Amino acid sequence: MLFEYHLNTDREGFYNITGQVRKALAESKITSGIAVVFCPHTTAAITINENADPDVVTDLLYALDQTYPDRPQFRHAEGNSAAHLRSSCIGTSETVIVEDGRLVLGTWQGIYFTEFDGPRSRKFYVKIVKG
Ligand code: ZN
Repeated sequence: MLFEYHLNTDREGFYNITGQVRKALAESKITSGIAVVFCPHTTAAITINENADPDVVTDLLYALDQTYPDRPQFRHAEGNSAAHLRSSCIGTSETVIVEDGRLVLGTWQGIYFTEFDGPRSRKFYVKIVKG
């Protein structure tokens, strides 16, 4: 089953979407398989990271800014190559095991939609596959 969710983002940020993925899983009635979370954008991404201390995602954004800065040598006319690079490095999907009707995540793990070139109106998909 395929589920689609929408969000409005700021310039950049990590958005915890674990609740929407759990909602999709509950609606699917599937109790064993996998959940694939996919972002259909080229300057955003999906990742799994710490859900408890908000300083972690703040630090990740800072580190991504430092590691993948905008560069004058970039040729892409839209001027957002650094955001494209961050999207490719983080990746546009995550796969989570589903067992006993639950997402198999660690205690401190959350699923995040990450924005690198907002503000924008974004969407992501959740596909629950029985298995
Ligand atoms: Zn672009």
